[in-house]
Amino acid sequence: RVPVPSDIDISRAQQPRHITQIAQELGVLNSELEPYGHYKAKVSLDLYKRLEERENGHYVLVAGITPTPLGEGKSTTTMGIVQALGAHLGLPAIANVRQPSMGPTFGVKGGAAGGGYAQVIPMDEFNMHLTGDIHAISAAQNLLCAAVDTRMFHEDTLSDKGLYKRLVPVKKGTRKFTQSMLTRLQKLGITKTDPNELTEEEAARFARLNIDPESVLIKRVVDCNDRFVRKITIGQNKTEKGFTRETGFDITVASEIMAILALSKDLKDLRQRVGKIIVGTSRTGAVVTAEDICVAGAIAALLKDAIKPNLMQTLEGTPVFVHAGPFANISIGASSVIADRLALKLAGTLPGTSARKGYVVTEAGFDFTMGGERFFNIKCRSSGLKPDTVVLVATTRALKLHGGAPDVKPGQSLPEAYVTENVDLVVNGCANLAKQIANANSFGVPVIVAINQFETDTAAEIEAIRKEALKAGAVDAVASNHWAKGGEGAVDLAHSVVKSVEKSDKTTPPNFSYDTNKSVEEKLSAIVQKMYGAKGIELSELAAKQIAQYEQQGFGNLPICIAKTQYSLSHDPALKNVPTGFTVPIREVRCSVGAGYLYALAAEIMTIPGLPTHAGFMNVEVNDDGEIEGLF
Ligand code: ADP
Repeated sequence: RVPVPSDIDISRAQQPRHITQIAQELGVLNSELEPYGHYKAKVSLDLYKRLEERENGHYVLVAGITPTPLGEGKSTTTMGIVQALGAHLGLPAIANVRQPSMGPTFGVKGGAAGGGYAQVIPMDEFNMHLTGDIHAISAAQNLLCAAVDTRMFHEDTLSDKGLYKRLVPVKKGTRKFTQSMLTRLQKLGITKTDPNELTEEEAARFARLNIDPESVLIKRVVDCNDRFVRKITIGQNKTEKGFTRETGFDITVASEIMAILALSKDLKDLRQRVGKIIVGTSRTGAVVTAEDICVAGAIAALLKDAIKPNLMQTLEGTPVFVHAGPFANISIGASSVIADRLALKLAGTLPGTSARKGYVVTEAGFDFTMGGERFFNIKCRSSGLKPDTVVLVATTRALKLHGGAPDVKPGQSLPEAYVTENVDLVVNGCANLAKQIANANSFGVPVIVAINQFETDTAAEIEAIRKEALKAGAVDAVASNHWAKGGEGAVDLAHSVVKSVEKSDKTTPPNFSYDTNKSVEEKLSAIVQKMYGAKGIELSELAAKQIAQYEQQGFGNLPICIAKTQYSLSHDPALKNVPTGFTVPIREVRCSVGAGYLYALAAEIMTIPGLPTHAGFMNVEVNDDGEIEGLF
């Protein structure tokens, strides 16, 4: 048997098609395409307006069972399905995936382009920089942080009057409000547009934010696993006159701005959401937002290109949208609403025509209790969309782990149980698969199990998974060999997807796990009981206080995202398969009002990872021809 080459070797061996060709086949006009080099392009949001009349194409969500730390192949399966649909069944098919952060790329995890013969190419461009969206987000978030710290510094030395005068610029001899100042005035209920007409009280209310430095929780960001900036002191130069403050950095993809990019519908929606970002509270407890700092307009300006989805291609020359990449811990871990909406129109047809609809296959990060749950309860609520079918990815190795096989670790060889046939372990572990099928079914969407096939899987193991999956309510369970064979290996899976979506109910909305108008505590309880199988939640004193504060501030009706491990249905990574009788501790609750959700911490969550001793970056070189080597 010929071994499958490394991901980068496979990617490099395939000459990508020019991106204008991919766009043309997809029905994107030249005027709607902005190429970045030969193999990547941004797509204008005007496209949505042009195709608005169309009925959406079919919408497929790829999600996963509770995985091993090696990853079970959700991205690989996403690519396998679209390659099979697009290049083998001749149906329009678009994959929508996240842009990976360079932190993990150079750290432990590696890239997120898929793998083997089911990948996005060129995978080096996909994994590094792409078209600069993550850099734009870093710039935007850091501008916000600099604006807040500087505002606190300036407010300290000036009187109300002096502050107002300095804030409002003189243009052509007269004082003029900027557009963002007018937006803030509107928010304050002040209708005057001439700066000279404000009363002293109004001018003071406009100018003085009186931010409590202790309340400022937003952090600067960097797209690198740089653990040494987790906690830092800023303002230590003497020019800052002793205005030092302890703060820290997050990784860029953990920023609220990244989550906003993922959940916005268009530029206008993004601008409004950015304005709602809470930067802290005043010393009297009033919420202070990015709008109040008059920086939301500039942030939206920095994101005006990042908001356009990036078009790339699979190894078999079918289209892929890459857009946004919010953290899967404290955010939704899915690609953007904008890319999904655009792709669904491109795959759609005009009402009454007989043309076949195409497919949009997108992915939910982490396991179904995290990525899947938020995909429905947060992303679908925001987009108004509902997947026609869920493809749940399972592997024999994850099922064996749940069934009682020893732990597996990245970089170490697999214990014997994983490479020899053991149907009993697989069947035991299928309890986890059954629970995740039930989780996905609870939203009112049919589930297909994709058994992502590994070289050492046996026919008896695969048949056992199929049987258990069907027993648990999956409409189908199909072994798929796309990693080794590309789209050809996923043809059976693709046929199953086609069959499933044709029967799907497109008229009723998803059956959400909770009503957003319920109390925060009720919403948390609904998630842990319905998705995790927990008894309930236990709120820390801090969490209870924070919930009371958010409810009082009027943010209690937002959906909620729980940050926990993906390695267990529960909050404890050591509890495999289907744990019962546990209570989920909620340590803290925070809010991302701009993104539109609260998030609760059920575990210690690192918002900037560290680098291992042998890091991914150690393998990477660029050769004399400018080609990148060693990227997994
Ligand atoms: P996820 O999206 O679930 O995190 P990925 O698709 O990124 O998982 O796959 C994780 C890793 O496993 C990748 O390095 C990929 O190349 C590898 N992989 C996936 N499927 C297979 C397979 N069937 N055989 C061998 N390796 C695989």
